[in-house]
Amino acid sequence: MRVPEVTSPDCECSEGAMTVEHVLMKCSKWSAEREEVITPLRTTSVKEILTSKAGGRAAIKMIQRTKILDQFKAVVEQEEGRTAEDREEEEEGPEEEIE
Ligand SMILES: [Zn+2]
Repeated sequence: MRVPEVTSPDCECSEGAMTVEHVLMKCSKWSAEREEVITPLRTTSVKEILTSKAGGRAAIKMIQRTKILDQFKAVVEQEEGRTAEDREEEEEGPEEEIE
C-alpha cells in the first residue's frame, strides 16, 4: 500500500510539516498516543506499519485521535476492511453453491 500524498501544512507542534510520517513517528504533540499504539509495533518504518495488519489498525487509532488526515484514514480503513473480509472468507471456506 502506498502512502497517499496529502497537502501538508505545518504541524501545530511547529517541528515540521503535518505528514503521515510526522504524526505517526515524530510529532511531540502525539507522543503519548504513539507510545500506546505505535511503540508496541517495534518498528520505526512507516511503510512497515502501514503494510501490516496490526500497524494499519494502530495507524487508524492514532489518526482517529489526532483527527487529521481524514483522507489517509479512509484509505487505511478501506485497505483494512478488504483484508479482514478476505481472511473471513478463507476461514469459513466456500459455502455450498446456492442458485
Ligand atoms: Zn507535529
